[in-house]
Amino acid sequence: MEPPVWNLDQLYRLDHPELDADLAALKDQTKKFTAWRARLQNGPPSPLEFRDLVAELADLNRLAHRLSGFASLAFAQDTQDQKAQTLMARMNEEMADLGNDLLFFEIWWKELDGEQAAPLAAAAADFAYWLTRTRAFRPHTLPEPEEKIINLKNITGGDALIALYDSLTNRYRFRPPGAKGEAEVGRDELMVHVRDADPAVRAEAYRELHRVYGADGPILGQMYQTAVRDWRVENIRLRRYDSPIEVRHKANDLPGEAVAALLKTVRERAGLFGDFFRLKARVLGLKKFRRYDLYAPLVEDRAKIDFQTGFEEVLAAFGDFSPLFRSLAARVAEAGRFHARPRPGKQGGAFCYSMLPGDTPWVLMTYNGRRQDLFTLAHELGHAVHSQLAGDHNIFHFHATLPLAETASTFAEMLLAERLKGQARNERERAGLLFHLLDDAYATIGRQAFFALFEIKAHELTENGATADDLAAAYMENLAEQFGPAVEVGPEFRWEWVSIPHFFHTPFYVYAYSFGQLLVYSLWRRYEREGAAFVPRLTDLLSRGGSEAPEKILAASGLGPLDESFWQGGFEVIDGFLAELGTLV
Ligand SMILES: [Zn+2]
Repeated sequence: MEPPVWNLDQLYRLDHPELDADLAALKDQTKKFTAWRARLQNGPPSPLEFRDLVAELADLNRLAHRLSGFASLAFAQDTQDQKAQTLMARMNEEMADLGNDLLFFEIWWKELDGEQAAPLAAAAADFAYWLTRTRAFRPHTLPEPEEKIINLKNITGGDALIALYDSLTNRYRFRPPGAKGEAEVGRDELMVHVRDADPAVRAEAYRELHRVYGADGPILGQMYQTAVRDWRVENIRLRRYDSPIEVRHKANDLPGEAVAALLKTVRERAGLFGDFFRLKARVLGLKKFRRYDLYAPLVEDRAKIDFQTGFEEVLAAFGDFSPLFRSLAARVAEAGRFHARPRPGKQGGAFCYSMLPGDTPWVLMTYNGRRQDLFTLAHELGHAVHSQLAGDHNIFHFHATLPLAETASTFAEMLLAERLKGQARNERERAGLLFHLLDDAYATIGRQAFFALFEIKAHELTENGATADDLAAAYMENLAEQFGPAVEVGPEFRWEWVSIPHFFHTPFYVYAYSFGQLLVYSLWRRYEREGAAFVPRLTDLLSRGGSEAPEKILAASGLGPLDESFWQGGFEVIDGFLAELGTLV
């Protein structure tokens, strides 16, 4: 059996009149809705009117998601199709206009004073979380003229600085290891070599990366520090946040203590990854494990798995957990919403697109029969299970918020790993899987948490007058703490931080990776302990979608609180992987 393609005709067909009719209807509805703009200026609506208004906005959003969703899916299945390209461009424009037309409602709602807002929110209780979240930024919002000035000045100020960083670094060219003369490649192509089997090649690739970034280190560092000062001036001085990282906590709707407990735990358990690297060094036959060897390849698995076998294996992994999970995962393919066949012009990568509540999601990936494809498949079908379980919520609530968005997908990967481990034909195969899990755990939990720790430090130091060189020294200290004596770090890594775009684009974003992955390990630990009794808990958690703050959802499903012992539970899973691996190699 060939990997399937989906059937987009279920939505629309390109240049089908129905699509234009729906777009026209959407514009009509929007026009009707915007009539409220003038009305709201004269005072708040009645609670019943407000209820209808919110329901109307939800309807509008449903139709908009269906239209723009179709355009993205048509484009993803064939990015070279001119009709799809045109539709995509047209929808992007239409949706930007729509967004602008509807913006007045959220602004009005956010600015409404508390006494007037309370009875209205009570009347639209189904939308409570979304309504509360919209108002949550009220204490940090400035009067309209000031907001306007910030927006205007950002275009040529903060945003322009980041755009300059991108333009500057995107044109960097690197000499790949062993290349003679003028041969020069981009960063992605260079980084392929850090996974080379030859230790000298890996070292050369890293040295070249940091040679190029390091040459501009002081100026990139100056750009970073300017961005850091801008963040502080706007968010602390003007918007009255307590700390630079609190801005991100607020956006994630997480209590700062939960994240602090996470970072503290990772810091305390950093030695565990050190143990892993020592083991890796032994298997690779290296006397000394260097930072260059972090992604050195181990057991290579070249066996191809045909689609039918791979797909059934993944469904069986869901079935090992719960028949409901299995049937929800299977439904994606049954409903003709699964595109796994390699095709020219098809978008790379993989995604699960959950368009509407209560509707089967769309999944795209390219199945080539490698073991990694099975994990991708499990990951995306995990997302699909999540959004189907949350299908009873309205359009503003059914998508999980960022901290919980990767729960089902990562959990599904764990289910698959567990199943494959059980089926491994020999110790070599089992060890290969464990190395894969531990590599992932380090890259997502350890590395990203230490990135966040560096950001906290860098904001602090900059506030106190530090230079770019001071930050480089602080970064080396961060690496020394992270790796301990287990890993030798070359001096050129002092400029690694100026090569991490997240630090410039979205300060403190990185902890979300660590948070999501360790959260799933901690849940996995509960599953190991509780067995079948855990199944309804996770099902309940996922069914809540994004209808509450993450911590409340976890508590309601009996799975919190997010304190140190919660995060320790996650590390116990990694302890288990390492112990098991130790017996195999
Ligand atoms: Zn994902």
